[in-house]
Amino acid sequence: MMVLILGAGQLARMLYLESVQLGIEVLAYDVSSSKVVDPVTREPLKWTLREAMDASDVVTVEFEHIDEELLQLAADRGKLRPSKEAILVGGDRVTEKNLLSRLDIPNCRYEVITELDGLTAISERLGSELIVKTSKGGYDGKGQWALNGAADVMRLQETLKQFDLAANPLVVEKKAIFTREVSIIGARSLAGEVAIYALTENIHHDGQLQVAVAPAVGITAGQREQLCRMFERISDALNYVGILAIETFQVGDEFVVNELAPRVHNSGHWTQNGADTSQFEQHMRAILGFPLGATVAAPVAVMVNIIGCASFSRKMLGIPGCHMHWYGKQVRAKRKMGHFNITAPSVHDMADKLTQLQATLPSEHFPKLELAISRLQGN
Ligand code: ADP
Ligand code: MG
Repeated sequence: MMVLILGAGQLARMLYLESVQLGIEVLAYDVSSSKVVDPVTREPLKWTLREAMDASDVVTVEFEHIDEELLQLAADRGKLRPSKEAILVGGDRVTEKNLLSRLDIPNCRYEVITELDGLTAISERLGSELIVKTSKGGYDGKGQWALNGAADVMRLQETLKQFDLAANPLVVEKKAIFTREVSIIGARSLAGEVAIYALTENIHHDGQLQVAVAPAVGITAGQREQLCRMFERISDALNYVGILAIETFQVGDEFVVNELAPRVHNSGHWTQNGADTSQFEQHMRAILGFPLGATVAAPVAVMVNIIGCASFSRKMLGIPGCHMHWYGKQVRAKRKMGHFNITAPSVHDMADKLTQLQATLPSEHFPKLELAISRLQGN
């Protein structure tokens, strides 16, 4: 069996690594070079895109910002999973907001604009604290601006002067006041069966995920139930197949959807070492029509992103339950280079392990470890 992944970054690489165990061949398509490549070495292979699509049983994606024509090529062959519609929902914030409204699922108050002049009037309706997001192409906090007041509005109008808002409108959201960010990740099979992982608390810095803790500390059975129902309603509405991630903001006892990711997700990387079946294997199982695997998880699992740094000792590997996953990329500021996964029998034990981890790392590159430790200590 063979799967072609559109996109050739670390998610394609990790999907490949877990597919080998299932006896599945994997090719990746690098959208920036327009070449079919090896998902691990990223060396070009002797396949054209069409040959690779024809030879594959299933075509899937590792990110949602893929040209619609490319998705259509795979859809025309009846091979695209999840569907083109589901991928486009994740790749376009306007389509995403429309889906959430249609399903009556809570999300941040927003307005869509195609003229920069509209920004001033919006602040009068939604308040001065706004998050402006491009509808297409944004990720890791890119294509996104926080505004607070008239001076910020004017500055952004200047920055975006040349921007084609007709082709890529702006979604202007009211800034949410939340206690924390929680994601729900699960798989839906071809038959409509759903398997959901432990809910994950996500700690960000500068719009980028730094640390993920599963299960989110103190989550109640009622809150989990609420999020699982939401997951089922969204994934059923899309007739979804594969791993779907939903990012939310927790406000009191309620959850407000921030965005959907129609793919394996950074906040689910802990499942590689913390769950019976990792999100990568689960995605492959789902899209190939295999039975879904168990999602039973370690009592506590944490993922720590390694961002913008590549040189540190490997001493942390001596911490019981600590694993490293490296993506093999050239180091650049703000670039995700790899991650650590750690499992522990209790939150206290995890706090100790993270404290040990912190001592082995250059602290300037891990600005949120301290906060994660104090969360686990119940502060
Ligand atoms: P990306 O596609 O870059 O992940 P997101 O919409 O998830 O974009 O935004 C990145 C981060 O920015 C979020 O995880 C959250 O921390 C912050 N953020 C985004 N939208 C809002 C909002 N409306 N209110 C408050 N914080 C927000
Ligand atoms: Mg996000």
